[in-house]
Amino acid sequence: MFDDHRSKKVIIVAHCLLNQNAISDGTADYPGQFTELIDLILANQIGLIQLPCPELICLGLERNDPQGVKRPILQENTRIRGLLCQVNNLERLQDKAQELVTQIEEYRGHAFQVLGLIGVNRSPSCGVETTTKGNKEVNGPGVFIELISEACRKKGQALKMIGVKTSQKDEAIKIVCKFIEETN
Ligand code: SF4
Repeated sequence: MFDDHRSKKVIIVAHCLLNQNAISDGTADYPGQFTELIDLILANQIGLIQLPCPELICLGLERNDPQGVKRPILQENTRIRGLLCQVNNLERLQDKAQELVTQIEEYRGHAFQVLGLIGVNRSPSCGVETTTKGNKEVNGPGVFIELISEACRKKGQALKMIGVKTSQKDEAIKIVCKFIEETN
């Protein structure tokens, strides 16, 4: 089955790595996407699963405050984290995390490789190694990544994750290169 031209390899990426238009006001590093990083994935013939942007879904493009851009970034991120942690938003994101796990199960059930997930460090939502809490960048996952990890755990799906920063292009490419080598 599926014995055609597909590579049977997919990777999950945070929404804004493919679409910088979704990112909070004042924080986009590219006009459209993080091209070099996406090109690297495509050159390895790996299909892309683009996560939804949790902040856009729950709080809109303005993240519930058109003045957000005026705050220092870590303060603004902390405000956003607080809003995402409201019960109604957590429930929405839990559903999205569950949808992702359903996709992972489907791919793996048909012997496809799901290499892992690339998040965005420092994000209160999509950080993997670091996130923002209490007006600081701290170790630990963002709200959405935590929900995805929990949903994976419940279904017994191990999912490797790494985080990058779009502002640190060379470092990000190095990290993703290594990740692809190790998981491919
Ligand atoms: S890091 Fe996550 S929440 Fe922030 S813009 Fe990217 S996809 Fe959206």
